[in-house]
Amino acid sequence: YIAKRTHLPFVVYDPQQEENRKSVLSLLGELKTAVDHDQLAVFLQPKVSLRAGHVVGAEALVRWCHPERGWIPPGQFIPFAEQSGRIRGLTLWMLRRCLELHAQWLARGREIGIAVNVSINDLEDPQFVGQVESLLARHGQPHGMTLELTESGVMSAPSSVLPALERLRQLGFRLSIDDFGTGYSSLAYLSKLPVDELKIDRSFINELEQAHGEGIVGAVVELGHVLRLAVVAEGVETEAAWHYLRRLDCDLVQGFLVAKPMPIEEFETWLEQGWSIPVADSIDG
Ligand code: C2E
Ligand code: MG
Ligand code: MG
Ligand code: MG
Repeated sequence: YIAKRTHLPFVVYDPQQEENRKSVLSLLGELKTAVDHDQLAVFLQPKVSLRAGHVVGAEALVRWCHPERGWIPPGQFIPFAEQSGRIRGLTLWMLRRCLELHAQWLARGREIGIAVNVSINDLEDPQFVGQVESLLARHGQPHGMTLELTESGVMSAPSSVLPALERLRQLGFRLSIDDFGTGYSSLAYLSKLPVDELKIDRSFINELEQAHGEGIVGAVVELGHVLRLAVVAEGVETEAAWHYLRRLDCDLVQGFLVAKPMPIEEFETWLEQGWSIPVADSIDG
């Protein structure tokens, strides 16, 4: 039976896989060029409060506009950039752009936070915090800025990243644990982490309507609140999920139901047009 063949101890040469490998390697080589020549773009996706429906922030998500291949989503290069140690230039580029944007917004009276994703590789490097401090000196201030770190990253190297987290928070950044529920958090350790926010991974939000789905998400919301963290649900796509989350007392929502990630200008237009809760009056049910 064909499916059993995967257990055989030999590897079939797959020309497609070889092509993919080459393509990843050449992309990695080009990543530095992309950073240096502004081929990267910041897309923004709103975070809204479930109770008031206000837009309180935006997550910055990188997009690579490749001269030949067009738009490349982060899933196709971030993991490789992390493994090969090339993520730093990208992280600092994103942070600089977002600090500048946030400063422009503040100058225009727009108080909307911006969250930037930071890789565990960044945190583990003792130089990283110093690099962030130099950015702050020239490009903006951390008040209103959040750094998102994945749960699996933070939990993979707890003691070595703790001092970095503490310093970043002292500088004034909010810290958020991303993709929560997919890593293996020690609850004891979680309660000692200097963080402000917990983002429930999309996979749990997808399963809200399935057996135990609501109970699990509700338990995570409660855990977050016991630890005095703001709780965000990511990947909210349906009105049904919105209703559940409201009932479960989740604080913030992010997902296609509200808006997809957009280029900065489009996000600003979207904000100015005003957003309203896309659900009927029954939200208090
Ligand atoms: P993430 O930080 O968990 O970001 C959320 C991802 O979920 C984004 O994918 C976003 O477009 C997607 N998403 C948001 N709402 C929905 C929804 O309702 N349904 C579905 N199906 N998806 C939704 P994206 O932009 O492709 O980014 C994927 C991941 O790549 C991010 O996951 C993050 O881990 C990483 N990433 C993106 N930008 C950066 C960056 O600048 N630096 C680093 N280190 N990582 C980044
Ligand atoms: Mg994130
Ligand atoms: Mg996430
Ligand atoms: Mg996620």
